[in-house]
Amino acid sequence: MTVTVRFAPSPTGRLHAGNIRTAIINALFAGKEGGNLILRLDDTDRGRSTKEFARGIEEDIAWLGLTWSARVRQSDRIALYDAAVEKLKEMGRLYPAYETPEELDLKRKRQLARGKPPVYDRAALTLTDEEKAKFEAEGRTPHWRFLLEPRDVVWDDLVRGHQHVDAGSLSDPVLIRGDGTFLYILPSVVDDIDLGVTHVIRGEDHVANTAPQIQLFEALGAVVPFFGHHNLLVGADGQALSKRDRSLSIQGMHAEGLEPLAIVSYAATIGTSDPVAPHESVDELARAFAFGKLSRAPARFDPHELRLLNAKLLHARPFPAVAGQLEDLGVGGGEAFWEAVRGNLSVLADAQEWWAVVAGPLEPVIEDTGFCDAAAKMLPPEPWGEHSWGEWTAAVKAETGAKGKALFQPLRLALTGKTHGPELKQLLPMIGRTRVLSRLRGEAA
Ligand code: GLU
Repeated sequence: MTVTVRFAPSPTGRLHAGNIRTAIINALFAGKEGGNLILRLDDTDRGRSTKEFARGIEEDIAWLGLTWSARVRQSDRIALYDAAVEKLKEMGRLYPAYETPEELDLKRKRQLARGKPPVYDRAALTLTDEEKAKFEAEGRTPHWRFLLEPRDVVWDDLVRGHQHVDAGSLSDPVLIRGDGTFLYILPSVVDDIDLGVTHVIRGEDHVANTAPQIQLFEALGAVVPFFGHHNLLVGADGQALSKRDRSLSIQGMHAEGLEPLAIVSYAATIGTSDPVAPHESVDELARAFAFGKLSRAPARFDPHELRLLNAKLLHARPFPAVAGQLEDLGVGGGEAFWEAVRGNLSVLADAQEWWAVVAGPLEPVIEDTGFCDAAAKMLPPEPWGEHSWGEWTAAVKAETGAKGKALFQPLRLALTGKTHGPELKQLLPMIGRTRVLSRLRGEAA
């Protein structure tokens, strides 16, 4: 069996930390199994889906380095859903119902008041043709419900283990709205059948759809795929992540300069028994993937932890892996510069700031003019190497008596304009004697 999975976002917004995790888990499983990942755009909600969001989603997934073998759009596939509807109607598994949302709400309230579960009472099943005609004459158009069989539905969830649901305790799900548009339940099953999806892997917010969907697979005469429902991400407050928070959107993270592999590594390892750690490729993560590692409890998404992981990933990157990107950022200095600064970067673009320290111009910070003048006089002649900083500061110490922080901090401030940064023994030769002298005099250089 070739594994076929799908990631099925609705193009009603861009991807964010929450739903990208579903994409990543699907991609890793497909990668591990040598299977296929299909990108399915669930755009049956015409009012809220847009082409721009669909394009944006593809851009986000591609930027993260995930690949898909095929892409389909549900809006292109309505004929398939219509055919399934005819089949279900013929089998008597799809029936029209005419209640308005208010009437349904009232029913539910009455049931709850009587201590009963708010399950749809199937009143529509007993409507006579005259009653239906009367509703239609009133201008009501029916919505269509799938008649569930009242039996236990069981599946072995890849994450949650053995599951069973008494379908007799569920409301018959609405498959088609009064305006004729499809809800997500049926098109998803029809596509999963048509595209040969072997494993439906999605967030656990879809667990409640699974029993009705399994009955739909069966009613349509198809093999039921495997199901896996992964844990969801929550914010620091324990609540579901807000889709509106831009810092959680992949687009926002991209703009902020985070590395795609930091995001993929983070999403692939939080909420699992593996340590949260940077990985250098999607393949490497795929090899380590196993459903058994996913925790059943919600996983906490911590933006700070993601940023630390991003930094860790950068600190470990060898120069050839970043040379092209550094060039695009206008950062020179080659391997020596990269080795000097990488430990100080949160995002790659921070290298620009350190490049300005090396190549100027930079506004020095002079706290004690006399000390800086004395230090300037002790500067050794070039050529400089890593030993030059030690030689110079030893001479300044002997001359001025300053030591420790009192010795190093004024020099760092004069040379870099900052209190912290890469080791000066590495930066000093790159800054060069002329620029160092100007800065010690308080001149921008
Ligand atoms: N469009 C659905 C969603 O975004 C897909 C659910 C599924 O994977 O079955 O939640």
